[in-house]
Amino acid sequence: MNKRQSPKASTRRPARATKTGSGSACKPADGNAIQPLIAQLLDALGEDPKRNGLQKTPERVAQAFAFFTKGYNQDIREIMNGALFPLEYDEMVIVRDIDFYSLCEHHLLPFFGKCHIGYIPNKRVVGLSKLPRIVEALSRRLQVQERLTVEIAETLKTELNPLGVGVVIEAQHLCMMMRGIEKQNTIAVTSHMLGGFRKQQQTREEFLKLIGRSA
Ligand SMILES: [Zn+2]
Repeated sequence: MNKRQSPKASTRRPARATKTGSGSACKPADGNAIQPLIAQLLDALGEDPKRNGLQKTPERVAQAFAFFTKGYNQDIREIMNGALFPLEYDEMVIVRDIDFYSLCEHHLLPFFGKCHIGYIPNKRVVGLSKLPRIVEALSRRLQVQERLTVEIAETLKTELNPLGVGVVIEAQHLCMMMRGIEKQNTIAVTSHMLGGFRKQQQTREEFLKLIGRSA
């Protein structure tokens, strides 16, 4: 399934499993490889990795990063498996205010906030809890907000074949808050609209209204 096997495949995982994010599973983060690197980082920061408070830090950081990137091991097909139900319902379905935490791939710092998803079913609906699970799988990896937004929308398009999909993400980025421009209250908003959400202004406006954003 994974066509991106390169000679280095054993040490390097593809940045994204597939174009839509509906990808094959990757190997988990290698905690044993991460630990000495964190010890080196502490040393390079001028710290003493052997001092009391830091002795277990490499182990803890390795575990934390495995958690932050666990989405690489989650297979969208598996998540969706058996969760589609035939239903004659052609009104908009919205799950809004889905909390997420991701890591900015430029600074390895968190960006986090809320994701809102809407879709118009095409003779079948998906179990509602699957939408947050898709957000979780695609956000728990190195990302940029724009790509995360597109990947969630495209994944739903691929998996549900709906009449339309809209995804809006509102996020705060620690790389903007605690470094660089140091703006504390800036929210980055990204959206990706497909099908009816893109073509019909009324549909788009209804979606934006229902997620609490004016059109
Ligand atoms: Zn950043």
